[in-house]
Amino acid sequence: MEKKGVTRRQFLKYAGATAALLGLSESLIPEIARALEELSSGKPPVLWIQGQNCTGCSISFLNTNYPMVAEIVLDKLSVRYHPTVMAAAGDKAFGVLEETAKELAGKYVLVVEGPVPTAEGGEYCTFGLEKETASFHGYQRRKDKPMTAWMEELVPGAAAVVALGNCASFGGIPAANASVTGTKPVQEIVKEIAKDKPVINIGGCPAHPDWFIGTVLDYLINKRVPELDRHNRPKMFFGKLIHENCERRAAFDAGLFLEDWNDDNPDMKLCLFKLGCKGPVTYADCPTRRWNSGVNWCVGANAPCHGCAEPSFYKDLSPLYEPLPEVHFAGLTPMVDTLGWIGAAATAAGIGAHYLYKQLGKKEPEGGES
Ligand code: SF4
Ligand code: SF4
Repeated sequence: MEKKGVTRRQFLKYAGATAALLGLSESLIPEIARALEELSSGKPPVLWIQGQNCTGCSISFLNTNYPMVAEIVLDKLSVRYHPTVMAAAGDKAFGVLEETAKELAGKYVLVVEGPVPTAEGGEYCTFGLEKETASFHGYQRRKDKPMTAWMEELVPGAAAVVALGNCASFGGIPAANASVTGTKPVQEIVKEIAKDKPVINIGGCPAHPDWFIGTVLDYLINKRVPELDRHNRPKMFFGKLIHENCERRAAFDAGLFLEDWNDDNPDMKLCLFKLGCKGPVTYADCPTRRWNSGVNWCVGANAPCHGCAEPSFYKDLSPLYEPLPEVHFAGLTPMVDTLGWIGAAATAAGIGAHYLYKQLGKKEPEGGES
């Protein structure tokens, strides 16, 4: 770091930013600084591959709140392969994947962005070429290498697999209703290849850069997979309902809902539940962490939460601008109009979201369940 012109004071500042990122007390800054310093001796190798994705999670990562922290992470890691940002291309780049899998088996972290299409022999997503050749219009040529083959090659030697974004974690948009590509989430493929391999799911469409960087830092500092919920998401970022911390929760409790986007005089502080907000069933820290360097978040920008951190996104949480369907007819709350009263009563009784879940006819969640 000294060679790069980073002073000790700056380094401690980065450690402070790291503590903030992980939601840790400032008293732990010296501990974090020590852990980060120690890491410089052995850079953990990272292989970052992309499947059926839009590259949005990579772009989101490069837009991190704390560029210096990202720099440290990148400096402390040895990112050997990343199709979007690496300079090398073609056989040379793919060779790095194959060599790392052989030489550093058991040591590298595999980051997968986008899910894995399995239909038609995996031909919907290929990168690089197989070693063997195939006949093509009378010519022999090397076959395209499907992502399924790469997963078989890279998963066994990975120390851990990080599924980055909703699509990689849970199938997301590529696995929604009309999918013809046989899309499977990363954890399903990993289970078929190596049953006990740890998979960390970082939901989001895209994933928040803090969720990824914070998870990686936590893994490096504590040398273990962070505490995960039942969907394998780090609890430190996906432990609380959006609805619990939403700035419009008071409007919800008071039964004040925005009814129509074309409202002549819309009061944008009204609750967006009736226009499709999935905050009551979504676990993520967006209201407190916010996006784009803490500038704003979906509801703050007058858009309902679409539940992009949840396993049920996109398929089961769409149409995006329709309210959660069960609410209209659920037991004591036949009309969404009564939800405000129910919410207020529930809050007063100290059962808040749990009561709402009961009304939705769903199993009561235990941190990060939907
Ligand atoms: S329903 Fe959505 S907008 Fe309304 S309080 Fe909950 S999270 Fe906020
Ligand atoms: S508020 Fe909801 S839709 Fe917006 S980023 Fe967070 S989880 Fe995704």
